[in-house]
Amino acid sequence: ASPALLMRVVASAYSVAEKAATIVRNVMAAGDLGIVEKTGANDLQTKADRLVQMSICASLARKFPKVTIIGEEELSTDEVAEELIEDGHCEEILKKTCPAQYAGIKEEELVIWVDPLDGTKEYTEGLLDHVTVLIGIAYEGKAIAGVINQPYYNYEAGAGAVLGRTIWGVLGIGAFGFQLTEAPAGKHIIVTTRSHSSTLVNDCISALNPDSIIRVGGAGNKIIQLIEGKASAYVFASPGCKKWDTCAPEAILHAVGGKITDIRGNSFQYNKEVKHMNSAGVLATLRNYDYYASRIPNNVKQSLVP
Ligand code: AMP
Ligand code: MG
Ligand code: MG
Repeated sequence: ASPALLMRVVASAYSVAEKAATIVRNVMAAGDLGIVEKTGANDLQTKADRLVQMSICASLARKFPKVTIIGEEELSTDEVAEELIEDGHCEEILKKTCPAQYAGIKEEELVIWVDPLDGTKEYTEGLLDHVTVLIGIAYEGKAIAGVINQPYYNYEAGAGAVLGRTIWGVLGIGAFGFQLTEAPAGKHIIVTTRSHSSTLVNDCISALNPDSIIRVGGAGNKIIQLIEGKASAYVFASPGCKKWDTCAPEAILHAVGGKITDIRGNSFQYNKEVKHMNSAGVLATLRNYDYYASRIPNNVKQSLVP
């Protein structure tokens, strides 16, 4: 029997994300980032965001024409250069058994949320390991599978180290491509934004009595901090983060028993009609979600309307 559609989509997304990472590195190496301000100086788009979005969306659309694909950048993918198309897939993923509840999924029932380059601000500032490529797969409004590529993983480890990695996960199967690690017990290490802070963002973190605060770019990068035990909670009491930022990270975090919601504790929805903005912020943990959720101040919750 041929592999289930979901597994074929994830296997293809894996290869498409690796191609994306090559594009991200090539644009940086060529030196002309072609920076465009979208809503302002803290909301940027580069040539890498544009090329990667075209590559991912066109590659997946060609293989899975009935799937809904929603990308961050407003670009046409009608005429995409053939050199941007990736048609490969990851064999190892195809060998895994699709969870029974997803085995009958049809193309028209899937929604793929694409953040071609998460952490663009940091990319333009040379904080290269903050950058990720996010491909999230949703069914019945839930994030059920995801791929996170980190194009510059290991870039400070020297010439001998393999540059870049791909993390993937499916609910009911697990997540792969990293070493699952819990944060130090009894310590409250909060990871949050570095380029989109506000009084509310900082007040919310202070109320959690953190032992330390890690300020890094990217939603994908912050979920990696959680699953590798660098941080105990991702706390962002602000609008600004969108569905393409959280879909792939959510699937991977949930696949390993973590939890992500808005700051008020509501789960995110990923059906194609949903509002893009996560207006009520983000709260995510690998373990001890209830501890952090119970300490979010009421005034913070009331300031953020879903
Ligand atoms: P950050 O943690 O600041 O890297 O944000 C995570 C994701 O949400 C990134 O894709 C950001 O671009 C996006 N984001 C968060 N806040 C804002 C904002 N105020 N304006 C635009 N994008 C934002
Ligand atoms: Mg993003
Ligand atoms: Mg982006």
